Amino acid sequence: MFLGKTVDIILIDYIIAITPYLPGCNIIIKFYGFIIILLIPIVLIHELIHGTIYTIFGGKVRYGFKGVYAYTQEISEIPIEKKKFVLILLAPLIIISPITILAPNWFGELIFLLNLLGSSGDIYMAITLVKYPVYCKIIDRSYGYDVIVEK
Ligand SMILES: [Zn+2]
Repeated sequence: MFLGKTVDIILIDYIIAITPYLPGCNIIIKFYGFIIILLIPIVLIHELIHGTIYTIFGGKVRYGFKGVYAYTQEISEIPIEKKKFVLILLAPLIIISPITILAPNWFGELIFLLNLLGSSGDIYMAITLVKYPVYCKIIDRSYGYDVIVEK
């Protein structure tokens, strides 16, 4: 369990755990190497969760990469209720976070942390939606989203 642990302790646990691997290899290279190896499945699962929830809500999704950035794009351009869009945004955080509690200490902690960082844009977008009325609808766009406000 990592509840109450700070980021520095999570990272120290991670460094202690990876130290025996790749003996003779620089710790900085190990540190970033293992993070990159972990990031690939985390990012793929994260985007797959966005896409699956969007599909459940009737959207059509396309996955892609912008440089090192993976993204899920809704392509039907059908407006979706704000609460559903917020759920799509936060679904990877809501689903992956409790699962990381089941993983061994440093491993679960690091996955939790990386997914939380990867969700920062989603959290930010969800927060920016607060200012729009509950009944508004959202269209997912490559640059973010458009808001349709009509009663
Ligand atoms: Zn996301």
